[in-house]
Amino acid sequence: MLGGMSWESTAQYYRLANELVRDRLGGLHSARILLSSLDFADIESLQVHGEWEEAGRRLAQSARELEAGGAEMLVLCTNTMHKVAEQIQAAVTIPLLHIADAAARAVIAAGLTTVALLGTNFTMEQDFYRERLARSGLTILTPPPVDRAAVHRIIYDELCLGIVQDRSRQIYHDIITRLSQVGAEGVILGCTEIEMLISQNDSPIPVFPTTRLHVDAAVSLSLDIESTPSSP
Ligand code: GLU
Repeated sequence: MLGGMSWESTAQYYRLANELVRDRLGGLHSARILLSSLDFADIESLQVHGEWEEAGRRLAQSARELEAGGAEMLVLCTNTMHKVAEQIQAAVTIPLLHIADAAARAVIAAGLTTVALLGTNFTMEQDFYRERLARSGLTILTPPPVDRAAVHRIIYDELCLGIVQDRSRQIYHDIITRLSQVGAEGVILGCTEIEMLISQNDSPIPVFPTTRLHVDAAVSLSLDIESTPSSP
């Protein structure tokens, strides 16, 4: 796991991975995890200054260290930093499990084609994420600028600091409701902290929580790898 962005959601990744492995294997089984946890203040500063190349370089370095430590796949515990997914993948030979693919698979499995996307402004506005979803045949709706600003602010000023407020939950609820009124059949919670705030009960349309979906995909793939007999 490449985490720390923020550590609040990485803690969820860790918990969920262990819970899923326990549920699938039973007993005292737990997930074998190597975690490289970065200082989010450094990464956020690079984001704000548009220094994506440098951010990618640092994540790629951590990815190399994880591979050298024996990791068999990479789980990048943030939607936003998938902006540099190709740079990270190019640095290692193990597969990076793309979070947008896990989300798209769940949306398609639910039989939906038009979904709202909530996340940081980088994720909602730039092509790296939207295009990946569109390639799976999905139509993506994002909120208007004022609502995008609120979604983004709540992520960085509250959720990444572990602050979960009813007032912000109501703001997200109202934004999702407006998106459903213009055609969204579901909503991708495309930031790994949003599911700290929003659950299915807070949304009039199906929610697709990317942290949970990403972990689920990683555990499934990992157990498949583990159950494949090695060749003689
Ligand atoms: N964890 C968040 C995401 O999934 C936002 C923090 C970041 O910018 O990495 O996009």
